[in-house]
Amino acid sequence: MSVLIYTESWDGSFRKSTFEAISYANEVSKLLDTDLVAISFGNESKQELEKLAKYGATKIITSDIIYKGDSEATTEFISKNINDVNVIVFANSYTSKMIAPRLGVKLKAGIASNVIALPTSTDPIQVQRKSFSSKAIENIEIHSDIAIITLAPNAYEIIEDSKNCQIEKVESVKKGNITINGQEVSSGKVSLAEAEIIVSAGRGMKGPENWNLIEELADVLFAATACSKPVSDIGWRPHSEHVGQTGKAVAPNLYIAIGISGAIQHLAGVNSSKVMVAINSDAEAPFFKAADYGIVGDAFEIVPKLIEEIKKIK
Ligand SMILES: Cc1cc2nc3c(=O)[nH]c(=O)nc-3n(C[C@H](O)[C@H](O)[C@H](O)COP(=O)(O)OP(=O)(O)OC[C@H]3O[C@@H](n4cnc5c(N)ncnc54)[C@H](O)[C@@H]3O)c2cc1C
Repeated sequence: MSVLIYTESWDGSFRKSTFEAISYANEVSKLLDTDLVAISFGNESKQELEKLAKYGATKIITSDIIYKGDSEATTEFISKNINDVNVIVFANSYTSKMIAPRLGVKLKAGIASNVIALPTSTDPIQVQRKSFSSKAIENIEIHSDIAIITLAPNAYEIIEDSKNCQIEKVESVKKGNITINGQEVSSGKVSLAEAEIIVSAGRGMKGPENWNLIEELADVLFAATACSKPVSDIGWRPHSEHVGQTGKAVAPNLYIAIGISGAIQHLAGVNSSKVMVAINSDAEAPFFKAADYGIVGDAFEIVPKLIEEIKKIK
């Protein structure tokens, strides 16, 4: 019996969400009194793979040949290398949204996505998940032999637990029918998915020529930049920065919303942030109801002052 963790990397380094998910999976394996096996289909170096042992993995399954972004091949790779698994854990990411349901069908395994806490029972597996754009919490029971869990970002802390670990290179699988022909990579210096702080702006910034203020604030805070949907629709910012119900869902420690009204569709993708700060000239803007801190005023006056003060503190 074992718990399996699917790991994700970017540019050869494991993502923060993978360290959260492996820490979670390690705790689940302790609850079930089983081993933790990590599976990697990302061509990471041996040195990078060995990092997984620091978080409880006793075995890592990997391959020399990978097909980047091919969820069909990845699903095949995982299902081929499953041995007596009770629980499979993913980070709740774009990748897992493509792989976990395919794997669920293939293995006849029940899935709980966007899970926010450790199982409250292991027989059957009972977990809590966020639903309705994080407006509700559901209690889920999984009765299939294998349970698949995708962990919400920032829902579980990264905990080291060093183990002796072996790396097992296995044969790859046939390529699937999916080929990625091009990728638009986010323009920001810090990736949105990994960012601890996000500086986000909306139509209140009036035009793309004013984004130097947003970028400067993001720079001093070592933050990623994001924007509301209309801003990316008009082409002021790239679509990769669009957050919300129809964009990326983010959950940083600090989300600063500048000139964003706070429509429910925007909040749906950002309201899992630990702390939200809204800067808006309209005291009645809906964002102030959701934010932890609010500054009523003109962004063009407030943001330069903020930058100045943060520089002084630094
Ligand atoms: C099906 C559907 C899905 C959607 N999905 C998303 C989504 O994923 N993400 C998303 O963001 N939106 C989404 N929307 C759109 C959403 O409903 C809002 O229209 C949008 O979020 C508004 O963007 P905004 O706040 O940038 O612009 P506005 O609504 O125009 O708000 C601009 C804000 O800036 C403030 N402001 C103006 N000047 C200043 C200044 N000088 N200083 C400070 N503040 C100022 C104003 O008071 C105002 O509150 C969706 C809509 C639909 C129907």
